[in-house]
Parts: sequence; structure tokens; C-alpha cells
Amino acid sequence: MHRFNYHEIRTPVFEETALFARGIGEDTDIVGKEMYTFLDKGKTSLTLRPEMTAPVVRSYLQHNLQHQSPLQKLYYIAPMFRQERPQAGRLRQFHQFGMEAIGLDSPRLDAEVIALAVQIYTALDISFSLKINSVGDPGCRPAYRKELQAFLVSAFDDLSADSQRRMETNPLRVLDSKDPGDREVTKAAPSILDFLCEPCRTHFNDVLQLLDDIGVEYTVDPRLVRGLDYYTKTAFEFISADLGAQDALGGGGRYDNLAEQLGGKPTPAVGFAAGIERLLIVMEQNGFEFPESGIDVFLVALDDKSRQWAFRELYSLRSAGLAVDIDYAGRSIKAQMREANRQRARFVVIIGEEELATETASVKNMQVGEQHKVNFDDLQRFLVDNIPLAP
Ligand code: AMP
Repeated sequence: MHRFNYHEIRTPVFEETALFARGIGEDTDIVGKEMYTFLDKGKTSLTLRPEMTAPVVRSYLQHNLQHQSPLQKLYYIAPMFRQERPQAGRLRQFHQFGMEAIGLDSPRLDAEVIALAVQIYTALDISFSLKINSVGDPGCRPAYRKELQAFLVSAFDDLSADSQRRMETNPLRVLDSKDPGDREVTKAAPSILDFLCEPCRTHFNDVLQLLDDIGVEYTVDPRLVRGLDYYTKTAFEFISADLGAQDALGGGGRYDNLAEQLGGKPTPAVGFAAGIERLLIVMEQNGFEFPESGIDVFLVALDDKSRQWAFRELYSLRSAGLAVDIDYAGRSIKAQMREANRQRARFVVIIGEEELATETASVKNMQVGEQHKVNFDDLQRFLVDNIPLAP
């Protein structure tokens, strides 16, 4: 995020329910079925956030961020809540990271947001496929919606009960259906790409051209509509073959009308959100080695007097910037050494009766196995010199 010059934003875990109902859309799955909604003591309806785009835009408008600069590039890493049936890759409290570029309608920002997601997945060695589409805008989408609805009416008997219902309220969502029968039917559905108005078509072609320019591979999928109502023009999704039924790594798109829908001035924007748990599932499957960060020093004390000395030393080594720990259970030297290993300590400092008497500590470099006698007065310098301090 830093490389792409996005800045962190943190918003509250809950918002007024109306924000999501107005922002995401009443007849989406999220708002219709999945929100954790409750009344507070003042009888205000609140909802644990199911996603971050609406809260970020709410915050952008409330704090007049447009006055700071015509473009705000924001990111978040945060828990989300959806009341779904838990299964592999689908949790009720899960985490997303994501970004929002708010204020401008340049197709370069669509491409930048996609490129940022690509760089993150690539850096983590995750193979993915990128699907992209344009869902048009309120100018051109209604004509498509009508045509699609007519098509769905003609195929009504072959559709699932869910899709038969959605056909009325949100026919585009039928294209999203996971039901195999629905998928077969909608293969022959009209394509939104044949209905785009000139500005939407140009925008879409520009985004694709920019992705070509930077070597990002994608598949255009005219059935990709995503589950939220606020999208306009670009919609995209990253899919992983290493995930099961829940194969979406992340998704996003442009939402030029959301700010206005929430009572602000027209403010074009584009964003992306990724599931962190799904990322971890794929990384684990790939045998990704998670970097194991150990501590710098473990202090091993052999008797009460040594423990007293060690406790003071612990404090001063920590003040000098080292990550240091000690045994609090009064265990044997063997158990303490095992603990030092378990904590992946780089150095172990051993203090006993003899060390106190001679004012020299036994210092063991756990990585190379060497042992040194170091004078108490020199101990801190010795450790600091031998351990690169964390930034
Ligand atoms: P969405 O806003 O629904 O497109 O969600 C964006 C991403 O968040 C998805 O592609 C998933 O990776 C992740 N995600 C969504 N819902 C869940 C969930 N219930 N549990 C875990 N990850 C989720």
C-alpha cells in the first residue's frame, strides 16, 4: 500500500444500519440476509460492518476529505461480519484488506487498484485468475436489465427458485448464481457488453489497454456482476483454483454513484477488497514458509538471587531496544533452555551463583552454538552489537 501511496483509514466496527441498506442495496444478499443488526439503547439500528466501502465513503463525506485533495487513496485491514453458514473459507467474522481511490474517474485508477492487488498476490506467490467486466452505469444498464429480464422470463421454468425470485428485484444477480442449472441457462443470456453506452465502453477499453500495457493478464467475463448494487463500469474478481467452492480471493470495481447515494456530491471512486483468511488458506496449501520471528535474548536464571538480578537486566535490555524474555515459572535449567529454543531466542544469557560471584554472564549464541563469558558491565553492549535491532 505504501508503494502505491495509499494511506490507512480506520473506521468504527459498527455503523448505522441505513448506511449499508442505502449503500449496498436492499435486495443484495448482504443486506437481505447477512447483516448483524441490532438496536442500541437509544433504539438506533446499528450494524456490524459487512464490508468497508460504504464506511470509508461515509467517513470521506463526513470529514470533507475532498477538501484535502481531489484524490484520496485509502486502505484498510479490518474485521468484517456476515451472518453466513460457516464453512471452509467462509466465516462470520473474517478479515479483509482493501483500498479505495476516491475522487476521480480516470481509468488509470481502475488499473492501479487492480495492479496493486496483482502485486500483493504475486509477492505472496499466489496463482490467480483475474476476471473483469463492465456493468455499465444508470444510463445504459436499464436497457440491458430489460433485455435480460425478458430473456429470463423466457427461461423461467429452468431457473432455480432463488433466481426466479431475483429475476424481479435484481435480475443481474441471476448471472452470478452458483446453481448449475442457472449457469447453463444464462450461457445464452444477452451480454451487457453489447449494451454499454459510449462513455462506459471507452472507459472499459481504456482499462483493458492499461492492463495490457503493464502486462496484467485477465479474462473478460460478461457474466461477472458482483453482489453489490453500487458498482458502475468496471467490476473485477480474483479467483483461485486452490480454493474450493468459495473460490473468490477478492473483488472490486468502480462505484461512481455511491457518494451521491449517501448524500454527498457526485464523487467517482474505485476500490478492491480481499479476504485475508482465504489468502492464508492458499498460502498454507502452497507450503508458504511464514517467517518465524523469535526473540533476541532469553534470560536463564538458576536461583532466587539470579532471578532478581535477571529481572533488573531484563528491564534494561528491553529499554535498550532488544526483545527479551525470562522464565516466570521457576523451572529447571533444562526446561528454561527448552523454552529459549521454543521462543527461537538468538542468544541465551545464563546466570547462576558462579556468574553472580564473578560478575560474568554465560552467553550462548543459539544460531552458531558458541558460548562466551561476558562481563556484566559489557553485557548490554555485547548483545546490542551482535543483534540487529528491529526498526
Ligand atoms: P465481497 O465484498 O463479498 O466481494 O468480499 C470480498 C472478499 O472477501 C471475497 O472475495 C472473499 O475473499 C472475502 N470474503 C467475503 N465473505 C467472506 C466470509 N464470510 N468469510 C471469509 N472471507 C470472506
